[in-house]
Amino acid sequence: MKIAEIRTHLLEHRLAVPFESASMRFDRRQHLLVEVICEDGTTGWGECLGPAGPNAAMIRAYAGWLRGMDALETEKVWAVLYNALRDQGQRGISVTALSGIDIALWDIKGKRFGASVATLLGGRFRESVRAYATGSFRRDGVDRVSDNAEEMAGHARAGFHAGKIKIGFGVEEDLKVIAAVREAIGPEMRLMIDANHGYDVIEAVELGQRAAKFGIDWFEEPVVPEQLAAYREVRARQPIPVAGGETWHGRWSFREPVESRAIDIAQPDLCGVGGFTEARRVADLCGLHGIRVVPHVWGTAVQIAAALQFMAAMVPSPVRRDPVAPILEFDRTHNPFRQAVVTMPIEHEAGVVAIPDGPGLGIEVNREALTRYAPEAEA
Ligand SMILES: [Mg+2]
Repeated sequence: MKIAEIRTHLLEHRLAVPFESASMRFDRRQHLLVEVICEDGTTGWGECLGPAGPNAAMIRAYAGWLRGMDALETEKVWAVLYNALRDQGQRGISVTALSGIDIALWDIKGKRFGASVATLLGGRFRESVRAYATGSFRRDGVDRVSDNAEEMAGHARAGFHAGKIKIGFGVEEDLKVIAAVREAIGPEMRLMIDANHGYDVIEAVELGQRAAKFGIDWFEEPVVPEQLAAYREVRARQPIPVAGGETWHGRWSFREPVESRAIDIAQPDLCGVGGFTEARRVADLCGLHGIRVVPHVWGTAVQIAAALQFMAAMVPSPVRRDPVAPILEFDRTHNPFRQAVVTMPIEHEAGVVAIPDGPGLGIEVNREALTRYAPEAEA
């Protein structure tokens, strides 16, 4: 299974209504798919988390090392590419690009052996997962309190058992939003809050202490991801479990937050942490320390499929009621190419998502959509 060629597919959609988190404004959706083609014609697909242009440039830089390698040798390819840029590239785009490549190689491996990636990872412990709705960003010219409450009530009506809203815009305003959302969704639905590192320790502690009464499952990225001592302080001084990890790349990034218990819930992103090869090591590390793993997901159906394969293979708790059963982050914001890139959209049914059981990622990419959503300069 010699690798012959590596292609990137940049997808873009300009949003009519921009939205923002505490750390980022979105006036367009942009994601990068990776296609790895073997000499025998077998093709594998992956996706990279983060800025699409820099990820594409990084993939091109890796191509020279990749061509001629055996696609089945996922550990070897990972080590060769990582070591090639190790001195300057231990985190960031070098690892997010490597993630997309690794996912594509596992897709190829699955096609070669006629098995899903979950099976190759060790087994399908589950055929479906419950999803949680991610949304409630801040939108221009709209009252955030009523807008977020109405949106989450809609997700509750659609059958989601849990939802996550964006905070980090200021403690008082955020508390009004949290109260209105809890009122709108009722007492049963699980609710998470994500500050996208928009607070410092003082604000995060105050928000956590005052928001806890609304029944919050986790407090995601309270402070900037580099400040692990600040994470630990937030965790110690307010009662809501702390989640984080979508910006931590590679096992070495997770080592300190896990070993020093800066988080209760780790959120590695398959398309950022280093693909299946590295996510497995991170999940093992978390398991050693009793830290829950809930993968972060923010991308197209290719990324969702990768997360689903990984979650299918996560080893359950040895008790009948499985407290560590993973839940899928299901982005509900506007992105017309999210599901268009595959021939069979990955949708939820009453908040539950089936895990594809076909070979590899279990998806087929719709090439017409890749052309339709290519930026004009690339089309
Ligand atoms: Mg987040």
